[in-house]
Amino acid sequence: MMKEYKVILIAMSGVRVVNEKLLNTGLTLPGFVDRSRVIASLPSLGLLTLAAHTPENWEVIYKELDTYTEDNIREILNEEPDIIAFSSLTARIYETYELSARFRKEGITVVLGGLHVSALPDEAAKHADAVVQGEGEICWKVLLTDYQHNALKPLYSSLSDSNYIFHLKDAKVPKYELLDIAKYNRLTIQTTRGCPLHCNFCAASKTISAYKKKPIKLIKKELDKIFEIWDQPFIELADDNTFVDKKWSKKLLKLFANYNIKWFTETDISIAYDDELLALLAKSNCVQVLIGLESVNIESIKGLDKGWKYKHFNNYSKAIDKIQSYGITVNGCFVLGFDSDTKETFLETEKFIKECNLSDVQITILTPFPSTNLYLQLKSEGRLLPNYWNKCTLFDVTYIPKNFTVEELENEFQNLMTNIYSEDLVKKRKMKFKQTLLNRSKLTIN
Ligand code: SF4
Repeated sequence: MMKEYKVILIAMSGVRVVNEKLLNTGLTLPGFVDRSRVIASLPSLGLLTLAAHTPENWEVIYKELDTYTEDNIREILNEEPDIIAFSSLTARIYETYELSARFRKEGITVVLGGLHVSALPDEAAKHADAVVQGEGEICWKVLLTDYQHNALKPLYSSLSDSNYIFHLKDAKVPKYELLDIAKYNRLTIQTTRGCPLHCNFCAASKTISAYKKKPIKLIKKELDKIFEIWDQPFIELADDNTFVDKKWSKKLLKLFANYNIKWFTETDISIAYDDELLALLAKSNCVQVLIGLESVNIESIKGLDKGWKYKHFNNYSKAIDKIQSYGITVNGCFVLGFDSDTKETFLETEKFIKECNLSDVQITILTPFPSTNLYLQLKSEGRLLPNYWNKCTLFDVTYIPKNFTVEELENEFQNLMTNIYSEDLVKKRKMKFKQTLLNRSKLTIN
C-alpha cells in the first residue's frame, strides 16, 4: 500500500548517572557494569508495539537516541516526518523536551508517551502537540487518524477514558523487523503488564495499566516471530512481575520449554514456595530471575506493600538457595535510603550480600518516580530536591533523606557499591552458585 504519511518513533534509551564520583566508581566495577550495559542495549518494546498498531498508510522509522549530535538531528529532519513520537524515561525527559521544542520549531508534530508523561501529562503537554497517557495501542491509532483529519487532541488517555483501555487478547506482534538485529544481544517480550502488589515506591502497579496477562497463544506468535529473525535468541521479559498468577505462569513456562531459548525475567520471592513452578522454570531454560528483596531492614520492608514482603522476610536466604538449586541464578535487588535506614542498614546489607548465596546483586537508591505513593508523600513533606528528573537514574539522590544528609547517603551508597562489586566478590558469588547446585537435594523451605 502507498504510504501517505511518515512517523519516526524515537526511544530515548540509556540513562546516565549524574553523581560523578559514583559514575567513575561504577564504570570500573564489573558486576555493576554488566547489568547496566544489558539494560541500556534493550530495544524499546513499547515503540515496536506501537509500530505494529500503526495503520498501513503510515511509514514507520524506529530510532534510539542514547546520545545525539546536531548530525543526528539533521538526519531525522531530512526524513521529513509528519510526526515524531518519543518514548522517554524520567531521567531523559529534559532532553526529550529540548528535542521536542527543536522539532516543533521545524513544523513537525511531536507526540510524547511513556511512563513519565503518563504520570505527569500536564507537564508534558507544555512540550508536545499531543500526549499519550497510559496504554498506547488504541490511543495511537485514534491519534494518527485525528492527525490525518487535522483534528489532533492534546491528550489521549487510557487512564481517564475507558474506551482506550487495551485488552491483551488484541495484542499484535511487535515490529521486531524494524530493528537492526545485529546490534542487539537480547530481545524483549511482554507477557504481563503492571503488578498487583502496589509497593509504595513502584510505578509499575499503576502508571500504565492495571495488572493483566497476555493470552499464551499470542505469546507463542511473538516467539515464533523472533525465531524467524534470530536463530538462538536470548529473551528478556519486559514484565514488572511475571509469576504473580502461578497457574497461568505454569502454562507460560510449558510454552517456553518448547523453544530453544535462554531467558531472563523479573518476579518476586514467592516462586521459591512452588516446586512445580521452579521445575518448569528450569526446564524452560530460564537463566536468571531478578527479585526485589528491597531491604535487609525489616522496618523498611514493613510499610512497603500490603505486608506481603514482610511475611517472607525471614526466609530470604533459604528462598534464594531454593530457587538457585534449580539451576536458575537469582539477581537480588536492594533499595537503600528508606526513612528507617541508617548507616547500620548499609553495613547489614553488605553483610547479608556477602553471607547469602546470591549470584548477582543490584543495589539502587530509593527514587520517588512521579505518581508513586512515595513521590506524593515526599512532596507533601517538602523533601523533593528541585528539578530532579534527570537524577531519576536509581543511583542518584533525589530527595532529602531522613537519617542522612544528601552527601552522606551518596557516600554510603558509593562505599557499599565498592564493597560488593569488586572483581573478587563477583567471582565468589558465581562460585557460591555452583556450590548451591551441588547441595540441591538438601534444600527445603516452608
Ligand atoms: S512487587 Fe515489584 S513490580 Fe510489584 S509493585 Fe512491588 S516493586 Fe513493583
